[in-house]
Amino acid sequence: MSTNIHHKIESPKDRQNRHKAMEAIKLINTIKEDFKFPIKSMEYFYDLFERVYCKNEPLHGDKVKVGTMCIQIPSEIIYALDGVPIRLCNGFYTDDEIGSDLLPQKACPLVKATVGHFASGNFSDKPDIVFSPTTCDQKTKAGAIIEKFGHEVIDVDFPRTKESEASREFFRKSIREFTSKLSKFQGKKLSRKNLKDSISKIGYAQSLYHKLTTYRQSDIVPILGIDVFLITNAFFFDKIDNWIDAMEALLEELEVRSKEKIHVAGKISPRIVYTGSPPIFPNYKIPQIIEQSDAIIVADETCSSNRMFNDMVAVDEWLVNDMLDSISDKYLKACTCPIFTKNDDRIRRIIHLAKQYKADGVIYQAFAGCTVYEMEQRSVLEAMEKAGIPILYIESDYSPSQHGQLSTRVEAFIESLKTRRRNKK
Ligand code: SF4
Ligand code: SF4
Repeated sequence: MSTNIHHKIESPKDRQNRHKAMEAIKLINTIKEDFKFPIKSMEYFYDLFERVYCKNEPLHGDKVKVGTMCIQIPSEIIYALDGVPIRLCNGFYTDDEIGSDLLPQKACPLVKATVGHFASGNFSDKPDIVFSPTTCDQKTKAGAIIEKFGHEVIDVDFPRTKESEASREFFRKSIREFTSKLSKFQGKKLSRKNLKDSISKIGYAQSLYHKLTTYRQSDIVPILGIDVFLITNAFFFDKIDNWIDAMEALLEELEVRSKEKIHVAGKISPRIVYTGSPPIFPNYKIPQIIEQSDAIIVADETCSSNRMFNDMVAVDEWLVNDMLDSISDKYLKACTCPIFTKNDDRIRRIIHLAKQYKADGVIYQAFAGCTVYEMEQRSVLEAMEKAGIPILYIESDYSPSQHGQLSTRVEAFIESLKTRRRNKK
């Protein structure tokens, strides 16, 4: 008797998807299982990440997907021109490893993972066009590399100073050029109504985020920081209306939880403000270590979360050109990324967050290879010291191997914050 056993040979694309699905599900399961008091309405977000990253489910069908390489490409304009913004910042170690063959070993893992993703061409929602702002050097160079993989990549000039009138004018012009290129690509003209509607819709999404933050300012914190990173990361690619519905449901549940005094951390768990290189799904290594070490992240200063939602577009006149200028001003002024020559706004913001959210300390993550975050750490550390706010600086990457060493440092810092709390009593 003969038995026919067919072994399907796994293609490189299938292998990559399998590895990415493993990374994604490992994190989702950890969040679901390791923390007490799970939030029912977070299931929408867990399921969303599972559908997109484990089942490779496309979300946007025939809609034109407009890839953005960084936070500085206004979603308001993309929606107004009937596109869907897809932020391409990538947090997968699988993609980081692919990118490592194409970029210097010491490059930023976020950039390597983004380039690795494009090199594999393996997208559930493939971008039809990519806009790449000239922010940090590595992102700027990555745009040109991605183009070689057959993508249409358009640079958007971004100034490296933000205080002067000249830089403001420079970016306003840049945003008008971006609008006209996208409008040409879409074969659609920007109308006053569409732009006003999309500003209003994003403003409403921001207002929901702001409401969420009020719960985190309270002594009884009903939601984990890691859940908040998931929510804000979902905004990178989700259908905006679905995201809004899920947020409304979540806020209703948080209201009930806060009335019932459900606190997701311990009695003396230190409250942390998180800053630095952005946590991007599924690279939540540091947030996960923090919250597994009996601390709670109550606020952040990162471009994958707070920085996306904090500042609203302020419009004086609802005319197309005025709206475009207001959008441009918001994206430039609100940005506290260390790409700028001087960046005092970032220090002010961290101190403000620490006070507003009654934080016990700040944890500053810089990706190894990110020169600007590494360079800015000294000035931030000095400012925190002056303000009497304890701070821990850590360098990390996407590799899973660093876990033990990082945990030891984070745990020691958290213990010192607890001692400080006890001594204050
Ligand atoms: S860290 Fe700065 S340059 Fe990098 S994606 Fe965020 S805002 Fe853009
Ligand atoms: S972490 Fe640093 S190198 Fe990486 S994208 Fe942000 S600014 Fe650029």
